[in-house]
Amino acid sequence: MYYEMIGFTGEPHSDPCVPGMPEVDLGTSSVFLDFDGTLVDLADSPDAIVVPEDMAMTLEAVAQKCNGRLVIVTGRSVASVEPYLGGFAGPIIGGPGAEERIDGVTSRCIAVDDHVVARMGDMAEAFAATHPGLLAERKPTGIVIHFRSAEDLAADAYAFLRVLDETHPGFELHHSKMAYELRPKGIGKELSIQRHMEAAPFAGTLPIFFGDDVTDEPALQWVGVSGGLAVKVGEGDTAASNRVEDPRTVRNLLRSWAKA
Ligand SMILES: [Mg+2]
Repeated sequence: MYYEMIGFTGEPHSDPCVPGMPEVDLGTSSVFLDFDGTLVDLADSPDAIVVPEDMAMTLEAVAQKCNGRLVIVTGRSVASVEPYLGGFAGPIIGGPGAEERIDGVTSRCIAVDDHVVARMGDMAEAFAATHPGLLAERKPTGIVIHFRSAEDLAADAYAFLRVLDETHPGFELHHSKMAYELRPKGIGKELSIQRHMEAAPFAGTLPIFFGDDVTDEPALQWVGVSGGLAVKVGEGDTAASNRVEDPRTVRNLLRSWAKA
């Protein structure tokens, strides 16, 4: 009941065979997974997602196969993704790259002025309040404005964040699916994945990364160039040489890896 309340659901498991997907040896691989749009379908707002009830269990099982080298790499804050990954104890990179949860402890990876971020959050919320359909999301190190429910206001959201971008030199504006984000310079999923791959226990293993968004492209490209397995989830241009149709296919593939 609790699980249903916060958006968990059961899911019939279909054939996990994904045509064209190379065989992987998890024992010598490191698995990096985006969350929204990759493990779960996107919803109208970040807290409206539906998570299959076996998600954490599946992630834990795959993590065991790769000796703990399974990392969630999300644009969300660690705190906002944790409730959906309750039974998963492995590493989480949030922010994306602004914070990390290692051994259950979340720490900041980049210095930002909390007062500045709070003030930007206030302004974003005030802006969204006068533009019905826009949703302002506060993150520990930045802000996001979602326009999924009001695509006609995308240009207004962009213009607003451009002004904040120009007046806050330590931050930069990013475009993601149905959202614009202002985040600190010097972070990114590709930088976090690279840093992990340079150190134990990741160094010397094959990187695998699944991502769905334009913000995942630099990481997909890096993983591909490094000889790893880069997998784009869904439609759209990509640097990845592999593609799966949707998050459901990703989940079924992970279930098959968990059982292998
Ligand atoms: Mg995503």
